[in-house]
Amino acid sequence: MTRIAVAKGDGIGPEIMDAVLSVFSAAKVPLEYDFVDMGKWVFDKGYSNGMTPEAQQTIESLGILFKGPMETPKGKGVKSVNVTARKTWNTYANKRTFQTLHGVDTVFSKAGIPIDITIVRENIEDTYGGIEHMLTHDVALSRRFITRPGSMQVIKYAFEMAKKKGARRITCGHKANIMKITDGLFLEVFYEVAKDYPELKADDVIVDDLCMKLVSKPDLFDVVVLTNLQGDIVSDLCAGLVGGLGFAPSANIGDHISIFEAVHGTAPDIAGKNIANPTALLLSGIGMLRHLGLMESAAMIENALLFTLESGIHTGDFGDKAVPSVNTTQFTEAIIANFGKLPAHNPKPLLADQPVTPTVFKLEKNPMLETIESNTEKIVGVDMFIESNEQPQLVAEKCLKHTLDLFKLVTISNRGTQVWPKGSVFTNLVNQYRCRFESVEELALTQVDILELYKRLSADFKICSTELLNAWGDKKAYSLAQGQ
Ligand code: NAD
Repeated sequence: MTRIAVAKGDGIGPEIMDAVLSVFSAAKVPLEYDFVDMGKWVFDKGYSNGMTPEAQQTIESLGILFKGPMETPKGKGVKSVNVTARKTWNTYANKRTFQTLHGVDTVFSKAGIPIDITIVRENIEDTYGGIEHMLTHDVALSRRFITRPGSMQVIKYAFEMAKKKGARRITCGHKANIMKITDGLFLEVFYEVAKDYPELKADDVIVDDLCMKLVSKPDLFDVVVLTNLQGDIVSDLCAGLVGGLGFAPSANIGDHISIFEAVHGTAPDIAGKNIANPTALLLSGIGMLRHLGLMESAAMIENALLFTLESGIHTGDFGDKAVPSVNTTQFTEAIIANFGKLPAHNPKPLLADQPVTPTVFKLEKNPMLETIESNTEKIVGVDMFIESNEQPQLVAEKCLKHTLDLFKLVTISNRGTQVWPKGSVFTNLVNQYRCRFESVEELALTQVDILELYKRLSADFKICSTELLNAWGDKKAYSLAQGQ
């Protein structure tokens, strides 16, 4: 028996988790459960990360968490326990599979267009760092982290998974035409990893074009890997293609701990009514069984689920409105009654079990992910973000007083658009400028030089934020302003 941690969650969480565990129990799945305390009521008890220390300890010692959806209390300044769990335990790859389910009518199923798309979403970085500040009363800033080792982890996982799945194509969705440094890095890593998988057709599509293509020709796609926020949005779009959030399972895969959950939330509008659709959580649980090598149980349960859907049995959120819906309990009982039956479409082969006991890792220190840079790094300037409601020319004149012999003022931009030395009077301004100082003749600067400039500028402006301008060899490690 393999032990896993289970958190039932909030809202419809306990109802759908009980439904799934009753299917597992009827199928004699060889799992034992340690129920852990996570979710809204744990926040309410004063645990600011939404889980008790005992829950954290149990999950870290078992390596697998199967969880229901959890609510984040609004307006209390606390972070989502769902995101905290994924980030704390470095579950870097969020795998979401979307398949045509017969019995779940969609535009595509009616048109006979089959869908089988796996989205792999980076799960730790991007704007989900939640590092946000108000720089002035009017200006909010969010930091978006895309890292080389973080991208490497998720992209390697995506390629490896695509290879095992026998995928024909793996696509990177991105916006590197605009975010040249951040999405550019993700895309660069994608093609670096692609070299090790010549058998897979690897290509990339800009994310807006990807959305258009997914809704017009979804059968063209197989595995798609994206950064965190874009992946979140695109995966909900894919959920829509196969019938909605009630059918979208999700696995958060890490090297040490993995979390299995549905994509949907706590559905407070239907909680406690025993009418929720447990399919997404059941599909997530089936994915977890395969992850644990319990192939036969996974296939038997999935075939029974597919057979049930094909037979037209449905909860209230989908299916033929002319056929009365069943409640969560009845839906679950129907699946159990269909054990051993094979669906007409996509029956899953009953592969032999290859049980995998999750390795329990006892880490003594936090893993440091670092790649080695061969080029020499130097500081060649600084971006000073300053608060001012004055016109660009006046801001420039004040800056120019402080450049010393070391710096030249290269550009001033407002919301990323250059407004000095050239610009347009039609550009609307907000009360925050970015003033870019570069070293004269690209000399290497020290942090003390930057501090001196900071000190001098602060006589005229409130400096809201600074960012060093680095160069590696001849390569500038920063973007240009629009219009520069
Ligand atoms: P939601 O997914 O809970 O609900 C959106 C709509 O879909 C609602 O009308 C709901 O009734 C319906 N729905 C969702 N799951 C269903 C199911 N299994 N069966 C039938 N209908 C279903 O999204 P929301 O209302 O934006 O969020 C509610 C709460 O859930 C929030 O507190 C949010 O933070 C949380 N949330 C948690 C997770 C998670 O735990 N991973 C994910 C998303 C949202």
